[in-house]
Amino acid sequence: MTDITRLSAADLADKLASREISSVEATRAHLDRIAAVDGDVHAFLHVSDRALDAAAEIDRRRAAREDLGPVAGVPLAIKDVLVTTDMPSTSGSKILEGYMSPFDATVVARSRAAGLVPLGKTNMDEFAMGSSTEHSAYGPTRNPWDLDRIPGGSGGGSAAAVAAFEAPLALGSDTGGSIRQPAHVTGTVGVKPTYGGVSRYGAIALASSLDQVGPVTRTVLDSGLLHDVIAGHDIHDATSIPDAWPSFADAAREGARGDVLKGLKVGVVKELPDSDFQPGVAAAFRDSLAKMEAQGAEIVEISAPHFEYAVAAYYLILPAEASSNLAKFDSVRFGMRLDVPGGTVEDVMSATRDAGFGPEVKRRIILGTYALSAGYYDAYYGSAQKVRTLIQRDFDQAFAQVDVIATPTAPTTAFKLGEKIDDPLSMYLNDLTTIPANLAGVPGISLPVGLAPEDGLPVGIQFLAPAREDARLYRVGAALEALFVDEWGGLLLDRAPELKGGAR
Ligand code: GLN
Repeated sequence: MTDITRLSAADLADKLASREISSVEATRAHLDRIAAVDGDVHAFLHVSDRALDAAAEIDRRRAAREDLGPVAGVPLAIKDVLVTTDMPSTSGSKILEGYMSPFDATVVARSRAAGLVPLGKTNMDEFAMGSSTEHSAYGPTRNPWDLDRIPGGSGGGSAAAVAAFEAPLALGSDTGGSIRQPAHVTGTVGVKPTYGGVSRYGAIALASSLDQVGPVTRTVLDSGLLHDVIAGHDIHDATSIPDAWPSFADAAREGARGDVLKGLKVGVVKELPDSDFQPGVAAAFRDSLAKMEAQGAEIVEISAPHFEYAVAAYYLILPAEASSNLAKFDSVRFGMRLDVPGGTVEDVMSATRDAGFGPEVKRRIILGTYALSAGYYDAYYGSAQKVRTLIQRDFDQAFAQVDVIATPTAPTTAFKLGEKIDDPLSMYLNDLTTIPANLAGVPGISLPVGLAPEDGLPVGIQFLAPAREDARLYRVGAALEALFVDEWGGLLLDRAPELKGGAR
């Protein structure tokens, strides 16, 4: 009998549609898997007690021959940055412990409407600040490939859930790489959509001009299926793009069978030399380029002279926006409130924020308020915004010459838990290659392209496309994925070591 948890979302959806498997069976299989392995992985902060009921409802509707969408009945993990009415939403912070939202994030509402079955909420760095999920107030998530290593961040929970076969689909958010970098270190696929392509309504804001919600899955097609569910205009998000989107699942299918690599111009950034990356990461990247070239792609060296300032600009813009967004956690409106006998409102507020926020959040609030202060605004925030414009121009010039840009997704494979936690700068530098896309608003995908020989851990490649050309990423990503699946005889994740308690 098939192990349901090993199926891709696309294959599971087919079996649900043909009624070979019921949604209750599929949901139960994933809940059992969570019960077996999540004690070790800790991908979930909360497991839904309504999942089986939601699945039974889909089964009932299918039996009644209702017209259900293509992924109805498939289980879904949801990053805890997205608010939900039936489960707590904490964004990985103590200040929101137990917080229940009065509404669902638009992406959650759309997922439910598409018949996806929420399994639970996944762990994350507090308010999505981090690259390792170690900044979660609820303890770290572990990488299913090696439990002593980080699953990436901030969306380590969603990536680990998918990599550990606890969920076939997950939602993440990406402000500077939090979908793509976790995908890279866990051997999964992650997509950061074009800014404005997916609603941010109900995504607890980190930095509003950078945040985007997107899919985390095991295959490119599965990301396309989930992206199709969540994409599209939302009147509740003023930055949401009103135009209709093509089907990303169709784009992935086209990429997997067609010859989209022939004549494709792939830009490689001159200013990101191989020496910036761990040897096995650079080697897997070069191998991918060679594979694409063998299929007729043209590798073109491009220059993006301002990418090297992206991390610096990001760590002014992000803290500035974050310090403003987090001001709403004031002990009055949401979440935690400490009792300060005889204290003033200000005493209560400051005691609550002191107890409720972790060290990384405090660091960024201090940085952000400083960067925005009257005396330093032009020197810091103003300059960073100018650099942002220069990076956007780098992209414009590059995309005048090439169809997509390719980079390794991150400098190294998964590092050890604890290795970078006391060194914020080295943590920040993880996002060297992912941050430029957020600053420019362009879409990006990361997909697995091999294991680094030196440590046997997964490596991803990142493709970037012009704004609104997300479908191109699905075509190109699926085309490269198909070459690897042929070579490997399956997915990279099939080679991950089995987890204790997960033996079937
Ligand atoms: N690691 C980056 C940061 O700490 C990205 C976070 C994100 O994308 N949410 O800001």
